[in-house]
Amino acid sequence: MGRTRKIDGPVPGTSPVRVAITLVFTVGLVLAEFALLVGVYTRDEPVQRQRLVQASLEQRINDASALGPDVLAQVERDLQRLSDEGLSVRDLAGLRTAVDAQNLDVMSAQARTLGIRLADRQRSLDRQAKLLYGTLLVIVSIGWFAWFRRLVQRHRTLQQAVTEQEALTASEQRLLALVQNGTDVVMVFDLDTRTSFVSPSAQAVLGVTGEKLTGTRLSALLQPEDVNRLVHLLATLRAGEDAAVKFWMRHADGRLLVVEGMLTNLLSESVVGGFVLTFRDVTERHALAERLTHQAFHDSLTGLANRQLFADRLSHALVRRVDRPDRSLVVLFLDLDDFKQINDRLGHGTGDKVLELVGRRIRSIVRAGDTAARLGGDEFAILMESASLEQARELAERLVELVAEPIVIEGNRMPVTASVGLAEAVPGEISSEEALRNADVALYSAKERGKATVAAYDTHLHAEALDRLELRSDLQRGIFQNELVLHYQPTVELETGKIVGFEALVRWQHPIRGLLSPAAFVPMAEETGLVVQLNTWVLFQACRFAAVLQSDWRHPTMAVNISAQQLVRADFVEQVSRALAESGLAPDRLTLEITESVVLQDLEDVIPRLSQLRTRGVRVAVDDFGTGYSSLAYLTELPIDVLKVDKSFIDRVASDAQGASVTEAIIAMSHTMNLSTVAEGVEVAEQAAWLRQVRCPIGQGYYWSRPVDEEGVHELLARPTNELGGSADLVSYRTVAPF
Ligand code: C2E
Ligand code: MG
Ligand code: MG
Repeated sequence: MGRTRKIDGPVPGTSPVRVAITLVFTVGLVLAEFALLVGVYTRDEPVQRQRLVQASLEQRINDASALGPDVLAQVERDLQRLSDEGLSVRDLAGLRTAVDAQNLDVMSAQARTLGIRLADRQRSLDRQAKLLYGTLLVIVSIGWFAWFRRLVQRHRTLQQAVTEQEALTASEQRLLALVQNGTDVVMVFDLDTRTSFVSPSAQAVLGVTGEKLTGTRLSALLQPEDVNRLVHLLATLRAGEDAAVKFWMRHADGRLLVVEGMLTNLLSESVVGGFVLTFRDVTERHALAERLTHQAFHDSLTGLANRQLFADRLSHALVRRVDRPDRSLVVLFLDLDDFKQINDRLGHGTGDKVLELVGRRIRSIVRAGDTAARLGGDEFAILMESASLEQARELAERLVELVAEPIVIEGNRMPVTASVGLAEAVPGEISSEEALRNADVALYSAKERGKATVAAYDTHLHAEALDRLELRSDLQRGIFQNELVLHYQPTVELETGKIVGFEALVRWQHPIRGLLSPAAFVPMAEETGLVVQLNTWVLFQACRFAAVLQSDWRHPTMAVNISAQQLVRADFVEQVSRALAESGLAPDRLTLEITESVVLQDLEDVIPRLSQLRTRGVRVAVDDFGTGYSSLAYLTELPIDVLKVDKSFIDRVASDAQGASVTEAIIAMSHTMNLSTVAEGVEVAEQAAWLRQVRCPIGQGYYWSRPVDEEGVHELLARPTNELGGSADLVSYRTVAPF
């Protein structure tokens, strides 16, 4: 596998010609140096000898006082020796003339002159020798320097080459080690996918050794569709190019793996000569990604599609069917009835179990190809493709029945029912949002008709929905423009007929629609959150009016309905305190009415708040008792003073023996718990009489009075007490027209 690379360029100084030139040059230089030195010495030596002879000649001449023949003979000998030593005749000419003239003084002067000349000559030769030495020294130094430089340069180049070679070897070894020991599998194969190399890591990834796989075909490990893709890729991948690949590959134990890697065309690289596929096992990552994608489009609790996927399927289905408008789609919108109570009363864990079970029931009933989704909370939706409205209605009815089948969780039987709204979606005419909204509108109408019902969308419903929307937007204006009014219904001591208090009941004096009942707008206010503003207004207004009423000898109490959203606010206690302080109403004259489900919603937060208010004297009543998850047991845990028995119980007391006994038990229990009991919705004398009999202390209802405005309250209080009990006239007294 490893590819080697030669160091580029020749190593300097290795050519034989260069070596020869260097050698010849060096020898030549040495010889020349030697010759020059010899030359200098051979020229200097005779001059030295001549000087010795001249010195002895001069001495001899100077020592002679007179010229005798022996002196002359010796002078002649010296001259001869000088001539023998190579002194030219010209140099000796003057002296010879003096000798011939035998003039001692001239001879002495001539000998001195000759000495001076010889000294000059030697000095000149000395200078020449020094110059020669200097020149040689310079030449040799330059030569040495040049040679040394070349040597250093050569050394450096060699060292660099060695380092490069070492690095190359190390990297090749590393590469080899990586290929041999790496976790990625490396395969080299030809156009026919026959492998010529498979790295040992194949054992860990594919369960077969690299050796065993070498010589086999890669295509044998792949799925047929991947083989086609690979063949296409091999045919199109150009030399040197690479491409990311992802295949399913068969492990030796039969498992299918997802592998991911890079395919490179190295056919033209002589050391490789094939395609190189480097890959790793990404099965787990792939599975995780699949799971995440599934989670992104599915509801984790029920495993059904989520809102996003549902909307996506719906819009796609609408687009797909544009050319087949005859085969329309139907959207079913399902919502559990009173699911909030299950959550509040039994906790979210139980709520989740109910939703999971409902999800399973929905899944069991939808046709293959249709989409069931949980849109959030207790809302589900089904998309029926190629279905008529009739088929959808049938399915919806079966769904309602199926959901209503008993659900028992941890021994508790859950009263679960669902309502379904359905809407047809004609491709090309309607968007997915509109289809879903229409089904929602139908659902709303189903809910209004009662629990466990099915309703189909029609344009009339749409108008109603628009109407509701309009009212909803009006409400904010209504609150700000003081269109709310309070009416008050008296609570009466059953024994004496004496008014003991009033309940403040809100109404909306709508500029166009007239006086609206709380049922028409309080739920809407709750949905939009406006209920907090609305109830704050009611609380302050009711306290203010109750304070006015305290001038009456009965000192009537004032009951105010409190909503969940108001109660869970951190400033609730402060708000009540402020309403009392601003109005000057004594705290024990104010009763806060809270429905069962509201009290039970957030026990940990609510109980301390209510307890705090009770320690200041404010009274707390459980409103509509018996309509929710009536459990007498939990009442002992709550900080309450009054139990308001719901009208539905009172309705049955006069006519139905069983109903009467249940109501009687509630009243008795209320007594034992030291709670005051108020019977709500007393309409007829028989009911009042029965309640008196079972010692229910207080009643409220049309029998005594409908809710009346402030003026009506004053008039009620002005009447003699005994006139209240059962007066038929009172029923219509100053009441505002029914809603
Ligand atoms: P609730 O608190 O249980 O109020 C008693 C309801 O029963 C009142 O209806 C009252 O007019 C009605 N009622 C009293 N006696 C009789 C009777 O003999 N026969 C019949 N058929 N009905 C009787 P209303 O005023 O329509 O209020 C309905 C509900 O609206 C109230 O029930 C209460 O839950 C809510 N509500 C009223 N005012 C407010 C308010 O200011 N804030 C909040 N959050 N809710 C309010
Ligand atoms: Mg009430
Ligand atoms: Mg009530």
